[in-house]
Amino acid sequence: MRITPLDRWTAKRISSGCRATQLSLKDLQSYQLERLKHTISYSSSSSAFYKKAFSCFNIESFNLLRDISRLPFTTSHDLEEHNSQFLCVSQSLVERVFTPLTSTLSSNARRIYFSGNDMERIIDFFHHGMTTFTAANQNVMIMMPGERPDSIGDLLTRSLERIPATGWVYDLVRDPVHAMSEISRNEPDVIVGIPANILSLVRHGVGSGIHSNSVKSVLLTSDYITPTVLTSIERQWECRVFGHYGSTEMGFLGGLECEARSGYHLTESDLYFEIADPATGEILEPGCMGEVVFTTLNREAMPLIRYKTSDLSRIVPGICQCGSELRRLEKIRARVNDIIKLGKNHWLGIYELDDSILGLDEVIDYRAILSNGDNSDQLDFMVELKEGADKSVLQEVRLRLLDNSSVSNAVVDGVLSLGSVYAGAVDKPVSTAIKRAIQDVRRDSGTSK
Ligand SMILES: [Zn+2]
Repeated sequence: MRITPLDRWTAKRISSGCRATQLSLKDLQSYQLERLKHTISYSSSSSAFYKKAFSCFNIESFNLLRDISRLPFTTSHDLEEHNSQFLCVSQSLVERVFTPLTSTLSSNARRIYFSGNDMERIIDFFHHGMTTFTAANQNVMIMMPGERPDSIGDLLTRSLERIPATGWVYDLVRDPVHAMSEISRNEPDVIVGIPANILSLVRHGVGSGIHSNSVKSVLLTSDYITPTVLTSIERQWECRVFGHYGSTEMGFLGGLECEARSGYHLTESDLYFEIADPATGEILEPGCMGEVVFTTLNREAMPLIRYKTSDLSRIVPGICQCGSELRRLEKIRARVNDIIKLGKNHWLGIYELDDSILGLDEVIDYRAILSNGDNSDQLDFMVELKEGADKSVLQEVRLRLLDNSSVSNAVVDGVLSLGSVYAGAVDKPVSTAIKRAIQDVRRDSGTSK
């Protein structure tokens, strides 16, 4: 098994571009401490938001990595309310602004600014990361937006040129039949896309002419990757599926799976990660499940310090089978804000429903809608079935949901009832930034999405 290319890349980056050496955790931690101190000093002097937030913090007292826990968290709400106050450079040095569309109803835009140097780091990471499963001269089909210069598709295409490999942007999948015909015509070696899109292709594609082994690897990005989705893609296309972790706020740099595919190797040369208790903010020991928090180490235009991602995960204990000591983050289990409370003691996230419903080959996608029922909350499901699928599958979906422990426990306790399960076409995502979630339309839920 090949060691992740991110190991050597990280070693090179933390030694200021000198000859690549084997990664040493001690060197990495020294580098991170120095960069954290720099980031805090730089942000305190250049960002109006952090100048105020850190006014009582003495940088001289920062001697250990864990000292960062004395600083306050930055939240998405802070970014929305005080957006321009995070900027550390003049507008003339801003090369690109990303405005992620979110599923929340906030009226304030959350703009993330990047300088030319920030953009180069993204391309450099994509270039080295993609070599995990992309060889020279291979073709990569990018099922992400890419029309605009410096969009994700464009950045990925430019990074592939450095391998050198060929990337071509297809955009998000809106018509699976058309997308399938493009795959058959172009026979890409690698496909990059979001999980729900790729699953819809796999389900449409059974028996429709995709050659076995024509697609060698698939990279899934931008949303949860449930075991069911992963297994379905690998089984139907006989390929290897890899996962990428990285939000716009992270500068897309979070982490990438290696050939062992047992968690995202984190890009610790550019981000410092903590796992925090979502309720108390206390930093948790390695292996404990909590909210992912990161601090940028090299960001020029808009550094973020202790940014709460709302993603729930944990650091995978031990050294990876590939031989790298780079820490790994387990696949994201859910988002703090997407877990919905039912009654006093029950919680439900879409991740738990995915495994019950998407495991059926006849199901392409679904939408879960939570509303006020007569005596309890009510959960209804619109299920998109494969063309020609027998409607009796809907009954199987219902049985599987009642077999799901989170659903059945809430039903038994009288806080949830299972409403209708009906067939329908689910809207396709318009942006990679929109994560799937249970649609909560309850009155007074306070968490409508
Ligand atoms: Zn590995």
